[in-house]
Amino acid sequence: GAERTKNVLILMSDTGGGHRASAEAIRDAFRIQFGDEYRIYVKDVWKEYTGWPLNDMERSYKFMVKHVQLWKVAFHSTSPRWIHSFYLAAIAAYYAKEVEAGLMEYKPDIIISVHPLMQHIPLWVLKWQGLQKKVVFVTVITDLNTCHRTWFHPGVNRCYCPSQEVAKRALVDGLDESQIRVFGLPIRPSFARAVLAKDQLREELQMDPDLPAVLLMGGGEGMGPVRKTARALEESLFDKENEKPIGQLIIICGRNKSLVSTLESNKWKIPVKIRGFETQMEKWMGACDCIITKAGPGTIAEALIRGLPIILNDYIPGQEKGNVPYVVDNGAGVFTRSPKETARIVAEWFSTKTDELQRMSENALKLAQPEAVFNIVNDIHDLASQRGPLANMPYILTSSFTSLI
Ligand code: UDP
Repeated sequence: GAERTKNVLILMSDTGGGHRASAEAIRDAFRIQFGDEYRIYVKDVWKEYTGWPLNDMERSYKFMVKHVQLWKVAFHSTSPRWIHSFYLAAIAAYYAKEVEAGLMEYKPDIIISVHPLMQHIPLWVLKWQGLQKKVVFVTVITDLNTCHRTWFHPGVNRCYCPSQEVAKRALVDGLDESQIRVFGLPIRPSFARAVLAKDQLREELQMDPDLPAVLLMGGGEGMGPVRKTARALEESLFDKENEKPIGQLIIICGRNKSLVSTLESNKWKIPVKIRGFETQMEKWMGACDCIITKAGPGTIAEALIRGLPIILNDYIPGQEKGNVPYVVDNGAGVFTRSPKETARIVAEWFSTKTDELQRMSENALKLAQPEAVFNIVNDIHDLASQRGPLANMPYILTSSFTSLI
């Protein structure tokens, strides 16, 4: 049509697998709903345009979550607004020109942030560019409950909260009701849209067609007690009397390559499949009967859509802590840190307590929000439609931004 294609810039960072998965979910949903109307860029602007510490978030994050106490301190000590505002302002001042160039290169009509540290600086840039009223800026929060306060910025057009708990926090932190929408966590459309039969999936993935299956994973990085849990499952899912397995095990290690090789060196008594980073998680989840994972929001939301009862065996302090009661209190799973306990529960679910497995599966489906990503992009589309296209708006790198500091 006559209308110009609009540019959408999605700001993410590869800290964990979740932010990228959410960014890609939003991108795919835009394509499905609106085709060529939008041109989408998924960018880690910090990594590409700034220096330390912004370009190094991925590495610092990985280091800190491995040393859990460090992360705990970082998460909670930066919670007061004056601390993170001051810190982010200092960084913004230092990298102003680079960030501005990074953002403006894409001439965005819409900016979508899916990262807790990507509100303040881009919003300052828009303000200094005089583009506040012209560019739609929205935040899509990807933590289910106890999220960091840097997610909330009163200057956004919308703040999409995945749950009522997060919406409450947004209100407390000064956002207006009119800015908040609660649709759920955005999950890749392939999860929401594909109707997959378990039998077919098992055949395609070369799994045992009959044995119940448990999926064991630990987020994009393969974190948590995966190895110990796998060994405990090998014992609990092997019927010693009859010398045959009562279940099969799928282990998805994500980017954790050393975990793959450690696990592969074992000779297993039960059918086991060990995989690295998988791009079609919806198939693996669709082929299994329950899941064991650390409390990553992405993995939890996906498992709920597939109706998988969840055993949570770990969480990252701070943002993932609240995901535990979210799952457990809603009857969709259990929490235990003990690999032995985990293995015992799975064995029971596959033998004497199949009714409990069934009930939890139903509760999981009740919590699932497969349409969230479509509701989010439709709402963003409505917001953008209320504004004229930025067709002839020149994006000029102003000197005003840097001269202000
Ligand atoms: N994931 C994936 N392939 C893998 C492992 C993980 O696509 O091999 C995806 C998973 O489906 C989920 C995301 O990575 O969407 C992990 O996000 P989560 O929030 O659970 O944990 P994080 O890795 O961010 O800590």
